[in-house]
Amino acid sequence: MVEYIGIEGIQRIVGRVGPARFMEGLAAEIEADYRRWGEFDKSARHAIYSPGGVIELMPTSDGQMYSFKYVNGHPKNTARGLLTVTAFGVLADVETGYPLLLSELTVSTALRTAAMSTLAARWMARPDSRVMALIGNGAQSEFQTIAFHHMLGIREFRLYDVDGHATEKLARNLHALGERDLQVTLCRSATDAVAGADIVTTLTADKCNATILTPGMIAPGMHLNAVGGDCPGKTELHPDILRRSDARVIVEYEPQSRTEGEIQQLPADFAVTEFAQVLSGAAPGRASAAEVTIFDSVGFALEDYSALRYLYKLQRQQNPSRKIDLIPHLDNPKDLFGLLRASTPRSPASPSARALRPIAAESAPT
Ligand code: NAD
Repeated sequence: MVEYIGIEGIQRIVGRVGPARFMEGLAAEIEADYRRWGEFDKSARHAIYSPGGVIELMPTSDGQMYSFKYVNGHPKNTARGLLTVTAFGVLADVETGYPLLLSELTVSTALRTAAMSTLAARWMARPDSRVMALIGNGAQSEFQTIAFHHMLGIREFRLYDVDGHATEKLARNLHALGERDLQVTLCRSATDAVAGADIVTTLTADKCNATILTPGMIAPGMHLNAVGGDCPGKTELHPDILRRSDARVIVEYEPQSRTEGEIQQLPADFAVTEFAQVLSGAAPGRASAAEVTIFDSVGFALEDYSALRYLYKLQRQQNPSRKIDLIPHLDNPKDLFGLLRASTPRSPASPSARALRPIAAESAPT
């Protein structure tokens, strides 16, 4: 039997500790996995593009376990009442190849993306950061806000979205948390939101080279958490921001980020650092208080591996956990057909009896 986490399952698992503690735990798992970067089999994700979006497969393995995620990105979906991003994934045992867990990853992607953003910001943002601008207030936005508030001590969130209803929804959800030290400011423009911010998170969805942030909006010492640009032709930052002499750009997995990240706008020899190098101490996340640090996030398979393994651990602590019969269990593994034999109705005139007659007898005229 394969462990199964659906929507009810993820609500139950996250509900036991709350999203903030769940993301804190997940960030620790992601950090531990990035620290053993060399053990992972890595590849850029496989993407199939269409005019309206992208469908991607994201596999990885550390030799013990294997995982993949199916994920889509369709920015126009919300106009049809559908999510921009949906996902599910599998965790499997490498030794036998057997799947261990089939899980929803739509909610989990939002949790892991916020956990990863906050983990990167711990190494890259100024430690005295207290104000974050959040541009793009859709499905991912609450998760980012909660993670940055609890894990990084951000107190004021300056919100902006071209869709005022999205901003109102985010503000409502944040007020409902009842956190007294969490201040929310609704802004009239991206420029207004960014003014005075220590951290700027861009979380917009549009299938184009958007310029959500332009060079004039960026102040020395800012940390940019650029999350929404994650496909060829889908970016959020003006390239001159990346070209600033005081900018430091950190990516997850360079070969994937070269085609999907903000750096797709720059030549292939533009210098970037992989996040694993920051954790190993090979490169700093930030060298000075005045540097502009940019986490060019696209989402990497290792983060989903960490999420699936974390979910698998939490799921197995539940009693009873939910399982599905995705894979057959047989007394004789060579008798796979036996599964169907047991459920196939038998009748005297069954084709199997007729099939034993010579073909000539079937076709001969009577
Ligand atoms: P969503 O569609 O629910 O929300 C996106 C919001 O951006 C919408 O409210 C929209 O009105 C707003 N927006 C679009 N253009 C804007 C603009 N020019 N200025 C201000 N706001 C604008 O999408 P979501 O699920 O919240 O995802 C947000 C983005 O993050 C998507 O592009 C998605 O592909 C990306 N994403 C990245 C990762 C990662 O790991 N890097 C993970 C998940 C999602």
